Amino acid sequence: MTPHVDPTPALERLLELQRSDMPAQGGRSLAHIYDSGMPEVTRVGSEAMAAYANSNGLDPAAFPSVVRMENEVVGFAADLLHAPASAVGTVTSSGNESLLLAVQGARDSRPEVVSPSMVVPETAHSAFHRAAHYFGVRAVVVPVGADYRPDPVDVAAAIDATTVLVVVSAPSHAHGVIDPITEIAAVAHSRRVACHVDAGLGGWVLPYAEAAGRDVRPWDFRVKGVTSMSVDTHKYAYAPKGTSVLLHRSSRLRHPQYFAAARWPGTSMLNSTTQSTRSGGPVAGAWAIIRMLGHDGYRRLAGEVFEAVDRIVEGIAKIDGLSVVAEPESTLVAVETDQSCDPFTVIDGLAARGWSVQPQMSYGNHPATIHLTVSAATLTKADDFLEALAEAAAEAVETGPIVADPDILEILDALDPNELFDVDFGSLLDAAGMAQSPGSSQLLPQRMAPVNALLDASSPEMREALWVAFLDRLAKPVRATVPPLPEG
Ligand SMILES: *Cc1c(COP(=O)(O)O)cnc(C)c1O
Repeated sequence: MTPHVDPTPALERLLELQRSDMPAQGGRSLAHIYDSGMPEVTRVGSEAMAAYANSNGLDPAAFPSVVRMENEVVGFAADLLHAPASAVGTVTSSGNESLLLAVQGARDSRPEVVSPSMVVPETAHSAFHRAAHYFGVRAVVVPVGADYRPDPVDVAAAIDATTVLVVVSAPSHAHGVIDPITEIAAVAHSRRVACHVDAGLGGWVLPYAEAAGRDVRPWDFRVKGVTSMSVDTHKYAYAPKGTSVLLHRSSRLRHPQYFAAARWPGTSMLNSTTQSTRSGGPVAGAWAIIRMLGHDGYRRLAGEVFEAVDRIVEGIAKIDGLSVVAEPESTLVAVETDQSCDPFTVIDGLAARGWSVQPQMSYGNHPATIHLTVSAATLTKADDFLEALAEAAAEAVETGPIVADPDILEILDALDPNELFDVDFGSLLDAAGMAQSPGSSQLLPQRMAPVNALLDASSPEMREALWVAFLDRLAKPVRATVPPLPEG
């Protein structure tokens, strides 16, 4: 007889743990999550995901329904991005994975290049630097101009015999502007180099914006020279977390991404992504929501997002001390402050009022900014948000711009981030205010501005080292949370 195991305590504990998280619904988070504002969308995504939680997309013969759903999701994306009939694609687990595979595929399509490189505008997503690190493809970084876009002339000058890929964004994750894709893809094409458009953020909203008559500069497969594109379904397709679509103009371009392994005594393996065993859950979640919303649903949701963006941009213009970094061309708004205040204090003020947004540190000539990802659910809350933002800005002006603690900064400045050990970092994290008390669910201080000001004044290398040390400290096993195994 199967012994009875009571599921209740585990599930109760699960929900109790979840209470420390930011709410994924409700429209008060303009970071990390994308909320349609439609409870039925959330429900259908979760139910589909649960229905496929134990499936394994690794074996298409055993789980043909997962392949079918994947092909339909890819097909929808291909239609949306005006891909030619020759186009193929893959559902990956994230924007990062799509970009990693785009770089790996481009590298391996040019095996004759000994020391491959790729041309990357400085505003391209961090995932490209990760791909450079993982796959040994040197990133040749092209600066952007005052309009936050790379100059096609600079891109052309950066291409050489080692270039296997040129990267552009629609829009950039940091500033929300679309790169001059027509010009850059033409340059890449004329030099016989692949060109990837990272439409992680814009791919599911720009087509509907264009259909609604907004001015959208060319960005998709209609642009000559674009060889691959990615769009993250767990963003504006409002799918549960865990899917992105990577599209290639032809099967030949996708070929190097596939990996088959028969040179071992086990089962022959066939992999299309970095995963091998692969839950059908996220694919099913994305598929069900796309099926449910269709073009009509997405057109309406895109209308809501763009209305929210317009209102937020208009509202910010009326707030002393704040301005948008660049006129948003999609649904991302980056906000900077003038000399009267600083973005970090504004962000803390928003947090105190129940709004969650992310800071972006200054980099090169670019100022530190407040990063707002607007979603459909933001619309009904847009006025409340602007009111909170105005209050937070007024408060920040009153206290004045935050200054990084000069004593700690002096310590940080004297250190080489590559030559530090955990021990040093422990006390540094304490000093920087990045230390959590053990067992606390509050991982960072309520007021992050002093920490952010320190990070902002530090070199990017030091920021990276501090965050890695932070994560290392955070990621520690919690042992003996269940009754011990009886001694045998
Ligand atoms: C979100 C995003 C990514 C990374 O996607 P993840 O799903 O977070 O890995 C890459 N590029 C752009 C433009 C993005 O907006």
